[in-house]
Amino acid sequence: MEDFQFYSDQTTEGKIVASLERISQAFRVLLWKKSKEFSLTPLQVQILIFLFTQNEEKKKVSYLAKEFNVTKATISDTVKTLEQKHLVVKDNEATDSRSFVINLTEKGNKIAGQTSSFAKEIYSPIAELSRDDKKNVLSSLIKLIIHLNKTGVISVLRMCTTCSYYRPSDDEKKDHCTLLKRDLDHVHIRVDCREHKMLDFPTTV
Ligand code: SF4
Repeated sequence: MEDFQFYSDQTTEGKIVASLERISQAFRVLLWKKSKEFSLTPLQVQILIFLFTQNEEKKKVSYLAKEFNVTKATISDTVKTLEQKHLVVKDNEATDSRSFVINLTEKGNKIAGQTSSFAKEIYSPIAELSRDDKKNVLSSLIKLIIHLNKTGVISVLRMCTTCSYYRPSDDEKKDHCTLLKRDLDHVHIRVDCREHKMLDFPTTV
């Protein structure tokens, strides 16, 4: 694996890795285009979308730094700029007045909603896949993400298979969420869940 060059590797594995690299490039391009439209940086847009979709306990500088793999200083500077643009406000936490959460203003909420569709060119062709193809792609991607988490490449995971509320299927029962009290087939498995609570040791699928 030491001299592995997936760009020149014509195996199926090599082509899949090269394809994922292209898709990752497409995400960067689409995010950059959407950011430019609103005179924001890609990180500013990512933070707005994150605040739009996640719950209180995650709206903190330290969590954002981990989420986006940048320093706390970078997040603090970006939040300051967003405050100056009247897109976010810092509110004291109800339980601890020394710490604060970052919330969207009305204007920030509107822009977050408008920018959150930046990846629709990637979403559209996926929506056209058959149900079985979607299921297989999702299952393969989940396995890949779990591996990347276990090897320390991705530090933050919020999906069912790494959640303490997740009960995997056995011979008689389907996968189940004990918090939402519902069965989870492949369509309902969440990859980015607001209610996620991390397991010490992720479950494999
Ligand atoms: S809380 Fe969310 S991530 Fe956890 S098992 Fe339920 S649906 Fe999945």
